[in-house]
This record gives sequence, structure tokens and C-alpha cells, in this order.
Amino acid sequence: MAQTVVITGGAGFIGRHLCAALLGRGFRVVCVDNLITGSLSNISEFAGNSNFEFVNHNVVQRIDYRDKVDFVLHFASPASPVDYMRYPIPTLKVGAMGTHNALGLAKKNDAVFLLASTSEVYGDPLVHPQHESYWGNVNPVGPRGVYDEAKRFAEAITMAYHRTHGIDTKIARIFNTFGPHMRLSDGRAVPNFIGQALASEPLTVYGDGSHTRSFCYISDLVDGIVRLMLSRINEPVNLGNPDEHSILEFARLIIEMTGSRSRIVFKDLPPDDPRTRRPDITRARQLLGWSPRVSLEDGLRMTIGWFQQQRQ
Ligand code: NAD
Ligand code: UDP
Repeated sequence: MAQTVVITGGAGFIGRHLCAALLGRGFRVVCVDNLITGSLSNISEFAGNSNFEFVNHNVVQRIDYRDKVDFVLHFASPASPVDYMRYPIPTLKVGAMGTHNALGLAKKNDAVFLLASTSEVYGDPLVHPQHESYWGNVNPVGPRGVYDEAKRFAEAITMAYHRTHGIDTKIARIFNTFGPHMRLSDGRAVPNFIGQALASEPLTVYGDGSHTRSFCYISDLVDGIVRLMLSRINEPVNLGNPDEHSILEFARLIIEMTGSRSRIVFKDLPPDDPRTRRPDITRARQLLGWSPRVSLEDGLRMTIGWFQQQRQ
């Protein structure tokens, strides 16, 4: 009998790739999503698979499932800064009440629980690169606070369920991840820059472009998540690619790789935008035997190809 995995947020970018990977490994996958930032087109290819089920549900409300559940992977939450600033209260609610409900489902079933946390728990970091032992530098009342604090609460309640109820919980601190199935309009740097380059529009770099990010290709991230979910680890684990670039370098690389004639324009930097970000992945390497394999250029080639196909 196949084991059952409930993936909240399964119709989003990362959730969709997790559904595909776990179906490929023989799991039964139940995707629970209210489609606030996800879409049915992301999961349409699984529709004929008898091991796949879609449940249209807002996880801020209690989550019930008729059969035994073995794993709960809690990925529901707007993730792009543009999305979570558009939906501040749903973001806080899914991070708080949604996480509580997902933990409740795991507790009822004695299932393994995995939280999709984020590098944003480190805020605008004063320690670089970021190791899991760093507690972060977050502005609770700034516009990004709705996401950062929701995820920090989610981590706290996850650990409380682990300590109080003995639930086998995992916390993945995910750093910027990119790949096919990102929404062209989600406002994040990767879809914005690729969309702009392919449309011969100017690439919008915020600030002077010196801010850094470290981008991880989706297949590497999914490999890390699956290893973590099957591991015995309960402490938070950073998952991301330590290959760090300034956003200006990154924009130039996309112009070069798309062969675009777009120029770069500089726009105001959004408030509290973290100045640097790079994961220390020593823990993931040592405990999961995991490290990213796909180079930024290879990942971008696959992602640009996918966005080109969508435009045809
Ligand atoms: P996404 O917006 O593409 O996917 C999020 C999914 O959650 C969507 O399908 C959305 O409809 C669903 N959702 C949101 N609120 C819901 C609710 N109340 N009930 C049911 N479904 C709901 O974002 P993503 O990039 O795939 O991110 C997925 C998860 O990974 C998020 O929890 C995010 O915080 C985390 N994460 C992502 C990144 C990244 O770089 N992509 C980095 C760090 C953390
Ligand atoms: N960014 C940019 N232009 C864009 C979109 C984003 O310069 O059109 C910058 C943004 O200010 C940040 C970085 O790119 O410094 C990554 O932004 P993204 O929205 O992808 O995710 P974040 O890491 O901020 O959550």
C-alpha cells in the first residue's frame, strides 16, 4: 500500500514539483490548495494519475482527510514579496492558523510533518553567510514582517508540537529557488527579468543592484526536501545554493543568456529588502549528504526555455 503525502500549497511553484517528484517515487499525493497564488494548470498533468488527488481548500480552516496520512508537507503560503504584500492578512493567517491546522492533521495521524520555512527568518542578516544557529534581524512592523513573522511563528509552533506532542517535525529553511512553473507575473527577480528580457523590455533592477541573492534550481531543492522528509532530523536545515551574485550581475547574465537587447533601469529599492543572502549549507551536507548540483547557468537555460515555450 502506497504511503500518503498531503502537500498544502501543492498547486504552487515548489508544490507542483514536489507532487511530481513524490508521485514518481510511488507515493499517493493529496494536493490541498485554495489557488490564491497557485493554479490548476500547474497540476493538470497529474489529473489522470490515480495516485493524485486535488482538494480545493483554504488551510486556514481545519484540514480533514478520510484516509491515513503518513506525511504532511506544509507549503501553503504566498511566497513572492509582491504576493505577500498584496495579501498581508492571508499570509499571516496561513503561516499561523494554516500551520496549526497542518500540524493538527499530522498529530491526528502520527504523520511526519515538514514546514516550508524560509531564509526570510534571518531578515536583513547581520551574519553572513547564514547558518541555522543565527536568530535573524527582522523588522516585525515593516511590510515584509507579515511573511517573516508568520514563518517565524510557524517554526515556533512546529517546535512546540515536536516538544509537546512528540511529532516528528522537520523545518526546511528554503533560500531563493527558481525554475519552470514560476508565474511570469509573480514579481520575483527571476520571472521578472526573464519576462522582461524575452519581451525586449527594460530589466527593472531595484536599488543600485548591489544586493545579493543565491539562487537554487528547483530540482536540487526538491531533492533536499525529499531527503529531509525521510530523515531523522528535527532541527531546522538550510536548503539553498551558496553561489551568490549581485542582482545587477544576475540581470546582466539573463540579458546575455536570452540574447536580449533589453537595457537595465534602476527603480526604488523596496523597504527592508535584505542586502545579502547566502546559505551556509554545512548542516545539509553533513546530515543529508545534500548539496546542489545544477549550476546557475544550466538552471537558467532550462527556465528560460520553459518561459519561451509559454509565450508561444
Ligand atoms: P507559490 O505562491 O507558487 O505557492 C504557494 C501555494 O500555496 C499556492 O499554490 C497557493 O495557492 C497556496 N496557498 C496559499 N495560501 C493558502 C491557503 N490558505 N490554503 C491553501 N493553499 C494556499 O510559492 P512557492 O514559491 O511555491 O512557495 C511555496 C512555499 O515555499 C511557501 O511556503 C514559501 O514560503 C516557501 N518558500 C519558497 C521560496 C522560493 O524561493 N520559491 C523560498 C523560501 C520559502
Ligand atoms: N529585484 C529586482 N528587480 C525585480 C525584482 C526583484 O531588482 O524586478 C530584487 C529585489 O529587490 C531583491 C532581489 O531582486 O533584492 C530578489 O528579489 P525576489 O523578489 O526574487 O525575492 P526576495 O529574495 O526579495 O524574497
